[in-house]
Amino acid sequence: MLLFLASALALDPTAIRDAVSEDRLLADMRELTGVDPLSDGTRIVSRSVSHPDIAVAEDWLFAAFSAIDGLTVTREPFAHSGPEPVANIVAELPGADPALAPMVVMAHYDSTASLDEGWQATTDPAPGADDDASGIAAILEIARVLASWEPGFARTVRFVGFSAEEVGLVGSTAHVANLDAPVHLALALDPVGHNPGDSDILWFSYDGRWVDEADALEALAEEISELSVTGVDEELFGGDARSDHYPFWQAGMPALHIGTFPLPPSYHTVEDTLAAVDPTFLFEVTVLVAARAAEEAEPLPEEQPGGCACDAVGPASWLVWVIAPLAWRRRRPS
Ligand SMILES: [Zn+2]
Repeated sequence: MLLFLASALALDPTAIRDAVSEDRLLADMRELTGVDPLSDGTRIVSRSVSHPDIAVAEDWLFAAFSAIDGLTVTREPFAHSGPEPVANIVAELPGADPALAPMVVMAHYDSTASLDEGWQATTDPAPGADDDASGIAAILEIARVLASWEPGFARTVRFVGFSAEEVGLVGSTAHVANLDAPVHLALALDPVGHNPGDSDILWFSYDGRWVDEADALEALAEEISELSVTGVDEELFGGDARSDHYPFWQAGMPALHIGTFPLPPSYHTVEDTLAAVDPTFLFEVTVLVAARAAEEAEPLPEEQPGGCACDAVGPASWLVWVIAPLAWRRRRPS
């Protein structure tokens, strides 16, 4: 109990909001969608798993995670039916307590324009800005913010960029099959850039087995978010098997699917460009998920001169009192 009280006291969502950069979110999206050239002057035309640029996107994501101090980044190759080799990118921010199951934040970096008549996956563009460059930009920014958080977390935070989502959740299915231990909670961001009708409503779906996780996200959003965040029981949709959360559900692991609804007209077409994305909406989603992941990862108490954490409530952390009672109320065994 005492350890958790110290953890809750170190949580400061206002600092997280200040740390998230809309400029970095947009810069990542511009490179992923081919608007901006990469450092070698080339541009990503498509992130379809049947297009040769999927390898460029994979290298780009590996490099982007590797540029963040404190992360351990690996490739997770897997088989699929297309012509190009593919891999998930897994980046871990190690927690202080290896006995705690990891918190997972994930999105998919492959794309498609399969709803365009005559679209050729091997050659034609598929910018996939909303779906799901938005989610990839968000998890990268969350990784930057959490990796720079001092003094870190008790629980490992695992960031996963899946490939081959658009051809049947192949990357996430392979990832879950490869897991050697259950995860604590997985949050799938797909897609999170479009703001239908400027409504500022963010939907997510949950499985009834993990209603507590849904309640916790809604409660945190009420405290810190500019968005109206509403969970929908996947039973109301006849089951939500539309994204990378689904293999986690099938394996009995808690996950939420966070994604805008209804989908924009540009969905799965060559028109899914930055024009479909509301940068402020994406920023708000990123802040919320960063705060939720940080909360669940159990921030370690700030170290004080002389090694005592007993004075954690200093002038810089007075805002923690806003969130501490909520965190206390939501505490449950991992
Ligand atoms: Zn998607």
